Amino acid sequence: MHPDLAKLIELQALDHELRSEHDQIAAHTKSLAGADTHASSAAAQLSRLRDSIAKEEALRRREESDIADLRQKLDRAQKKIDFATTTAQVTALEHEIAFLKSEISRLEDQELESMERSETLEADHATAQQANADAVAALERERARSAHETAAARSKIIGLESRRTALRAEIVQAPTGDTSLATYDRIARGKGNAVAQALDHKCTACQMMVRPQRWNDLIDNTPESPASQSLMTCENCGRLLYYDPARDAPQRKPAAPDHPESIAAQIVRNSM
Ligand SMILES: [Zn+2]
Repeated sequence: MHPDLAKLIELQALDHELRSEHDQIAAHTKSLAGADTHASSAAAQLSRLRDSIAKEEALRRREESDIADLRQKLDRAQKKIDFATTTAQVTALEHEIAFLKSEISRLEDQELESMERSETLEADHATAQQANADAVAALERERARSAHETAAARSKIIGLESRRTALRAEIVQAPTGDTSLATYDRIARGKGNAVAQALDHKCTACQMMVRPQRWNDLIDNTPESPASQSLMTCENCGRLLYYDPARDAPQRKPAAPDHPESIAAQIVRNSM
């Protein structure tokens, strides 16, 4: 393996961890926004129901006042009928009384309907109040959880960033480090992961076969081999390839108790 490659694999692991921490922060932000939207809509629903209840009450007050007016008119008409002197006057008053009675009855029916609507609204209001209280509590929990987890992720990011800076500085100090790092950065910008493991004659990133001659070069770990002298790339996806003998074709090589630790595992262990 090219001496810069092991460090690039470690750099990729750090970059991956950093992305994952940033993704987690974004997920917390999104989840908090979701809880906030939910609480807002619960509050809006509660407010709409309060308005509707108030409107029904105002409507009934108007109806009651109208009924009271009509009852006064009815009272007057009923008194007047006792003093009516002509048949025409009596007929006119009887018509008025009949009309007033039917209006009063119509308004009373409306008032009853309004009371029924209010009952439904009150029940909905109680449900909405509970839903609103639940949404507010959920929002508070989410706010606390998000703040806690985001702070943890931020502090992890600070640690990872400082390890990353140190590792990049270390890579640059190697004779070919500048070029290797520039290659890594260029591929990572385009593809996310710049380094891919070659396993069972394939690039594990794009799944394309590695040609036999290239494969032989890649698995040759002697200091003079092409894989030790220069960075080898996948001919299909262009990622930097590395070969880890410990992980290749495990089905053909049953694991022995002293099974060698994989290069990736060594890197992970050494970077802890
Ligand atoms: Zn590939």
